[in-house]
Amino acid sequence: MLKNDMLETWDRENFFHPSTHLAEFARGNLPNRVVTGGSGCHIEDREGNRLLDAFAGLYCVNVGYGRQEIAEAIAKQAKELAYYHSYVGHGTEASITLAKMILDRAPEHMSKVYFGLSGSDANETNIKLVWYYNNILGRPEKKKIISRWRGYHGSGLMTGSLTGLELFHKKFDLPLSQVIHTEAPYYYRRPDLSMSEADFTAHCAAELEALIEEEGADTIAAFIGEPALGTGGLVPPPAGYWEAIQKVLDKHDILLIADEVVTGFGRLGTMFGSEHYGLKPDLITIAKGLTSAYAPLSGSIVSEKMWTVLEQGTDENGPIGHGWTYSAHPIGAAAGVANLKLIDDLGMVANAGKVGGYLKRALEDAVGGHAHVGEVRGEGLLCAVEMVKDRDTRTFFDASEKVGPSVAAALLKEGVIARAMPQGDIIGFAPPFCLTEAEADEVAGKMAKAVAAVLG
Ligand code: PMP
Repeated sequence: MLKNDMLETWDRENFFHPSTHLAEFARGNLPNRVVTGGSGCHIEDREGNRLLDAFAGLYCVNVGYGRQEIAEAIAKQAKELAYYHSYVGHGTEASITLAKMILDRAPEHMSKVYFGLSGSDANETNIKLVWYYNNILGRPEKKKIISRWRGYHGSGLMTGSLTGLELFHKKFDLPLSQVIHTEAPYYYRRPDLSMSEADFTAHCAAELEALIEEEGADTIAAFIGEPALGTGGLVPPPAGYWEAIQKVLDKHDILLIADEVVTGFGRLGTMFGSEHYGLKPDLITIAKGLTSAYAPLSGSIVSEKMWTVLEQGTDENGPIGHGWTYSAHPIGAAAGVANLKLIDDLGMVANAGKVGGYLKRALEDAVGGHAHVGEVRGEGLLCAVEMVKDRDTRTFFDASEKVGPSVAAALLKEGVIARAMPQGDIIGFAPPFCLTEAEADEVAGKMAKAVAAVLG
């Protein structure tokens, strides 16, 4: 690629980067990186660096970079028909085929897919569908949504409210009043260290039930959760968690939304996280892994139970008043079809489970014994290393010490990209599914060096 010497100046002058310290970037204190290419688990930048991307972009490039099969499917679709809408019964071969492929892979009781573009808009759709559903059933008061602290569900007004991380609320006047938060299923951070996993699960279920009873079950419409917490810390749930939560929800007639934006299509070593942990959701949110981010596309998978009520609603009210211009965009749909085929053809779901287990063990061996590593955890290709000031008391470092970002920066110097998660000193690893054991060893070995460089 020709080097354009103005790029850095243009970047700092014109580009409003998401999730970025705006002032530090404008001042030139944050590096800018112009990414130029990628292949397998690696990306390249215009300075000539080749980096092992152990976070798959934003845990979305699941099949890895440079997949020609997907690029060709996109090009073919763009040449034949770049766009047509999907309103009033319109579609394309790609969008219809993709809906069928998704339903073939989803849990049995799911019935239809509504397509969007991002995880955030798919969750907005889900909340609208939940409200529409309860209005049709004649329960206009049943509208509040329960989410978890440390859950991540997007950055919109409703979805940023559902997200249970302070950074996404602060100065934005969020959360909206219809959203309430309950305990995170975060066993390492349980309120009493003497609790077993079973005790902690019972505690989370009891907290949820107390909240429902305090608010009144007839005011609560749905509970939303990621099968395993993602951005809030990459935390698999304690044993029996989903079974206990599902019981409370069923008892109070509250819908369950499984946000599978990260876990959908294989990251935990099973096609869906719902299958992995035995959830029976009424709605499933999908995005990232649906196209491996080769093109933007998301979806809300709707259960048969909800679908029959939604249909009844349109009999009474006319067409559903909810649509995006780019719903089921043909280019995204073509990318999705090619991506899901590739995942099957290369047996990538099984590899995610196998190499994920290997990566977790390699990280445990490399840093698990370090005096400032509190926990190495993971499920499939979703692993994390949590660093603490004191292992016994599990005390946090002061945020001003920036331990997490410093370790991520030290790791980057070694040529590996991992993510300093937004809350707590947690380094997240969520590489593409094509990660090899040799690459997992490289990630773990370099993580040991990075931890030593920052924490001794
Ligand atoms: N849900 C989950 C579980 C996510 O991890 C994300 C994105 N990280 C979203 C929703 C929002 O997706 P998007 O950024 O595409 O809007």
